[in-house]
Amino acid sequence: MNAEIIAVGTELLLGQIANTNAQFISQECAEIGINVFYHTVVGDNPERLKNTIKTAESRSDCLIFTGGLGPTKDDLTKETLAQSLGRSLVMDEDALEKIEAYFKKTGRTMTENNRRQAIVLEGAQVLPNNHGMAPGMILEGESTRYILMPGPPSEMKPMFMESVKPYLLSLQGERIHSRVLRFFGIGESQLETELMDLIDGQTNPTIAPYAKEGEVTLRLSARTNDTEKANEMLDEIEAKILERVGSFLYGYGEENSHAAVVFDLLKRKGLTVAMAESLTGGAFSQTLTDFAGASEIVKGGIVCYTNEVKENVLGVPKEVLETDGAVSATCAKEMAERIRLLTEADMGISFTGVAGPSESEGKPVGTVFIGLSMADKETKILSLQLSGSRTAIRNRTVKQGLELIRKSLQ
Ligand code: ATP
Ligand code: MG
Repeated sequence: MNAEIIAVGTELLLGQIANTNAQFISQECAEIGINVFYHTVVGDNPERLKNTIKTAESRSDCLIFTGGLGPTKDDLTKETLAQSLGRSLVMDEDALEKIEAYFKKTGRTMTENNRRQAIVLEGAQVLPNNHGMAPGMILEGESTRYILMPGPPSEMKPMFMESVKPYLLSLQGERIHSRVLRFFGIGESQLETELMDLIDGQTNPTIAPYAKEGEVTLRLSARTNDTEKANEMLDEIEAKILERVGSFLYGYGEENSHAAVVFDLLKRKGLTVAMAESLTGGAFSQTLTDFAGASEIVKGGIVCYTNEVKENVLGVPKEVLETDGAVSATCAKEMAERIRLLTEADMGISFTGVAGPSESEGKPVGTVFIGLSMADKETKILSLQLSGSRTAIRNRTVKQGLELIRKSLQ
């Protein structure tokens, strides 16, 4: 199938805006194996648009329009196409309801123009616009398919991804099969650098990185009509990725956060944890107790923010606090071991450090020690120098603690 992209708008011809819609749609079409042979730009002029449609129909199987679906007089894409095809226009009740609701909510008065936006070509599949007013349309003619989308990229792009792309794929008998890989301990830019040639060179499957809250995910998407084949394709690309950055992989899936993965791991192994939290002030406890069934795993914890509590409640020796200080590997070790013994948990984890904004005990902001004590094993100490705001340092410390547990259980 070959497609032609028709961007409607005089602003494009005047050079006031660049035709980025065509660029986006072309990239997406290339990815799913649809040939785009022509980009056409035409002004807001019914005669010239009609001629454009005729020419495009003579050489392309699928015409993809953007622009001219708005409420104003110069928006005439669907009206002109209706005339060209001899089709009528009908009111789409769903779209109208949405527009009415919007005006009611914002307290603005709705004009006849706005009603016009809910009018669609008879027989068209109506595409919801989740980011604006004007719905899109797909119309299957005798030998040509017509796809209409609004001009603003913020409306067009999501509509393309949510409705048009799946439609185009279904025409080819294909579907997108995705797999999400989750990484910790590597930044988005480093991950991208490591995988640059794979990301750039790959069209099927594609690799899309996405960073959030100190973690990076990679979405692998394979396009095929065969689930087994899709899995093979995904396995193959995943193997290539893991060859390079496998040591940072901690899990799979869209929803499986770092904490969820660690929680499940502890549950599967039937292990309990207790925490002694100075720096993190209870944040680690909160993270692990967010999940239902936490009582099977979390024994409890102490927020030992002051030296007195570290000494009197937890039992950290005075000498340790006086010589090495509260922010030290030795203190982290004592805290982890003591909380484990106090609570009779399988694992004791401790957090001590300087969250800032000012230094403490002569140690710079971002100095962090995490201790992990397990029965019959030497206590592990993770010593870190983190950067960022107070909140960022605390959040990162929690994640580092999760990762320390995960790595120790592998
Ligand atoms: P609206 O309801 O906003 O009027 P519309 O579907 O009628 O939407 P147009 O009026 O043609 O679309 O264009 C609206 C805006 O969308 C333009 O001002 C421009 O910012 C953007 N736009 C339109 N066409 C393109 C394009 N081909 N590439 C990039 N941006 C575009
Ligand atoms: Mg407009």
